[in-house]
Amino acid sequence: MENCIFCKILKGEIPSEKVYEDEKVYAFKDINPEAPVHVLIIPKKHISSANELTEENKEVIGDVYYAAQKIAKELGIADKGYRIINNCGEDGGQTVFHIHFHLMGGKKLNWPPC
Ligand code: AMP
Ligand code: ZN
Repeated sequence: MENCIFCKILKGEIPSEKVYEDEKVYAFKDINPEAPVHVLIIPKKHISSANELTEENKEVIGDVYYAAQKIAKELGIADKGYRIINNCGEDGGQTVFHIHFHLMGGKKLNWPPC
C-alpha cells in the first residue's frame, strides 16, 4: 500500500536488516531495539492492524508465529524464552499501520507492560 513504510521496506525502497523471509512473511531488525533481540515480523500482504483480520487473511498469523519460532531458534533465544507482541490501535501503542509482531528476547523481560 502506498505511503506504508513497511510496504516500502518490502519493495526495497527503504533499507532494512533482513533476518528471515519466506513466501508469506518478512522479518527485519527493529530500528530502535528495546531488547538484545528485537525483530519485527510482518506479512507480505498489507493488513493495517489486527482489526483488519478476516476469514480470508487470518491464516497469515499462523505463518508469522511459525516464522517467529524459527527465528527464535536461529538467534538462540528459543530455550530461554521470548515474547511476541502485536500492538493494535492508539491505546495499544501502534505507530505503524501495517500489522507487525515484535519478537523480543535475549534478556528477562518485564511484565506487565502497562
Ligand atoms: P508499533 O509501535 O508497535 O507500531 O511498532 C513500530 C515499530 O517499528 C517501532 O518499534 C519502531 O522502532 C519500528 N520501526 C519504525 N520504522 C522502522 C524502520 N524503517 N525500520 C525498522 N523498524 C522501524
Ligand atoms: Zn503496508
